Amino acid sequence: MVRLRTAELFALDLETLAREAQRITRQNFGRTISLYAPLYLANYCENQCLYCGFSARLRIQREKLGPEQIAAECAALAATGIQNILLLTGESHKHTPLGYLLAAAEVVKKYFPSISIEVQPMETEEYRALVEAGVDGLAVYQETYDREIYARLHPAGRKRNFQYRFETPARAAQAGIRQISLGALLGLGDWRPDVEALFGHLNALESEYPGVDFSLSFPRMLPVEGAVQPCIVSDADMVRILCVARILFPRVGINLSTREPARFRDHVFPLGVTRMSAGSATTVGGYAQSLQGHDAQFSISDERSLAEIKTMLLNKEYDPVFTDWRRM
Ligand code: SF4
Repeated sequence: MVRLRTAELFALDLETLAREAQRITRQNFGRTISLYAPLYLANYCENQCLYCGFSARLRIQREKLGPEQIAAECAALAATGIQNILLLTGESHKHTPLGYLLAAAEVVKKYFPSISIEVQPMETEEYRALVEAGVDGLAVYQETYDREIYARLHPAGRKRNFQYRFETPARAAQAGIRQISLGALLGLGDWRPDVEALFGHLNALESEYPGVDFSLSFPRMLPVEGAVQPCIVSDADMVRILCVARILFPRVGINLSTREPARFRDHVFPLGVTRMSAGSATTVGGYAQSLQGHDAQFSISDERSLAEIKTMLLNKEYDPVFTDWRRM
């Protein structure tokens, strides 16, 4: 297909987009899907994002795992076969500062060859220290690229600073983080301008930092008790977004989380997805039996275990990949 501009691609019919996206995905990634799991270390947060279950304005039970609890979580997850881990916290410089994250990474790297983080945006030097401690991936989502909506949905905390967040992937790239995932939280406003701005952000970063392995995420907002309710992003919209992303960025990884229902994930992953979360818990201490039962950041739609997702992939003649990276 001749390289079309974003607007022209969005105007194509779904069938044409899907055919092309699947062809490009097979050509560049074969029939493989990397699997990972999130591990929530803490739910303290200094921000008040109006769409999130961890917002500082909500009265929920706050928790932070200590080294022994982290080890218990890791052991429970590693026993399932997971090797790629995404460590998450709320964004709290007080409760989960750099020192806490470095200590956590020291524990986690005994169990997993690859560690990504989704925590408060930090300075380049702080990211350097995390790389030294074994962290090789970062997820940081702009949420929305519309400055007016951004200001309205982030009324308090450091996250109010749109520009600092926007420049976070560049600081991480300068620090030597190998894999960086960008995203927009779909449903905060009109999805189309957000997705186009996300593509522009990625384009600029890829030109500036060609050695970094960038990936895209399109989390679709789910209703959370006490939070603003999402604008509708239909399944057809989601398919369109995935396909256009794949066609515009043939070699970029695309993540699909357990926010999406099992049926939807099973149908759309061949169109461009390269990484899926599996067997996810979105509560602090969600894996080790003794720590279960806390408030979740958002609800999960696909509640299948890692073994069930693996079986689904094998049945569709895809290879589930557990690790494609090892520290030397
Ligand atoms: S989205 Fe992140 S920063 Fe915002 S309230 Fe939730 S945990 Fe905190």
